[in-house]
This record gives sequence, structure tokens and C-alpha cells, in this order.
Amino acid sequence: MKRLLVLWDIDGTLIDDGGRCQAIYPRAFERLTGTPARHRVATAGRTEPDIMAELFARHGAEPVEPGRVTAELVTQLRRLAPELRAAGRVLPGAVEALRALGRQPAAAQSVLTGNLRANAALKLRLFGLAGYLDPGIGAYGDDARERAALVPVARRRAAAAHGHEFDADGTVLIGDTPRDVWAARVGGARVIAVASGASSTAVLREAGADAVLADLRDTTALLHAVQALRPAARSAG
Ligand SMILES: [Mg+2]
Repeated sequence: MKRLLVLWDIDGTLIDDGGRCQAIYPRAFERLTGTPARHRVATAGRTEPDIMAELFARHGAEPVEPGRVTAELVTQLRRLAPELRAAGRVLPGAVEALRALGRQPAAAQSVLTGNLRANAALKLRLFGLAGYLDPGIGAYGDDARERAALVPVARRRAAAAHGHEFDADGTVLIGDTPRDVWAARVGGARVIAVASGASSTAVLREAGADAVLADLRDTTALLHAVQALRPAARSAG
């Protein structure tokens, strides 16, 4: 039986997009409104609908139907795919980390990401990571605008799939921003932060992560960090 739900962030944690993906938001904005975007908004750790909502708000633009926004973001990422594949990379240690956790019989792995489901799937496929993760038990930008609200969504999906309730101590987020840390705190999960994205170890520690790693290169350190979060499970064998 799976007793640990491991939920990975994608951007800055598993992959480095070479700074390419943030271009899709102003492009989508222009296609949806007919007006070029004059303002940039921060994207790290945020859901794609949240990024677009702020972009619209900053420009004082009339909101458009959410389905159109979603469809446009998916179109824009598909267009960007060859460039993303060329400029991006899997972060060091990510594959080994996914494999090592995949070998743990108690662990189920998926994503908790601000990406729309289709965009998450495309990124994971482009970088050869899709096979390590069960997309059906994850949570995505389509599920809620606020990242913290994604945690109960993933826990519910994993419970339905595995016939086991994953409580907050049985759910671990791995992500690279203070928003990942906050999502775990508010949404009900433990969190391991990795400083492979835009945030330093000091910032992630300050945000309240249960454990902070510089990156994913040290697979043993990651496994220890995961194990250390779960004293009850360890003593119960
Ligand atoms: Mg991230």
C-alpha cells in the first residue's frame, strides 16, 4: 500500500526552462485582448490562471472566459516547445531522485504544479520525466487559482486511487519557492525545498520549509530528508 504521497513542483525543481516559459503569458494576453502587454508579472511558484489574472488586472483589461485563457496558454506553450526543448534542461539529480523515490514501495509520486494539466504534461514529456510520475493523482493550475488549494485536491485524488488517506504527515511537497512552502503549510503537507530555482536556501529556510537542500544532486540526502519527516511511519515499520 502506498503510504507516502510525494508531490513535485516542476519549474525550478525538476526542470530549468532556460527562462523561456514566461514569454507565453504576455503572448497569450496579446492574443486574448488584441493589446500588447506593457507590464510583466512575477511567475515563480504561481498558478498559470493566477499569473494571467494579475496580468489582466495590471492592464485594467476586461476578464475573458477562463476556458479561452486556458486554451491560449496551451497553444502558446505548444508553439514554444521546440525552443523550450533546446534551451531547457532537466535539473541535476532530478532523474535519480525520481527513480530513487520510485523504488520505495510506500511512495506514490505525482506533481503539484501551477502549470495547467496540459502544460505540465507537455513539459514532463519534453524532458523525459513523464514516466516517473502518476498524472492522475496530482494537482494543477486548472484545479484552483491558489497553490495551497491544490494540496487537498491531490490528496483526494491519491486517496481515491490508492484506497489510503494521505494525511498532512503522509504528503510531501518538493518545490523551489516560498510559495511551495506556504502551499504545504496552508494546504496540509510537509515540504522539502530545493534552492535550484530563484530562491536561496536562506529564503526557503526562513519561509519555514521542513528541510532545505541546495539541489537534488545528493539523492541520499533527499531520501533522508523524506524519511526524517515521517517518524511515525518509520517506527511503525
Ligand atoms: Mg517552481
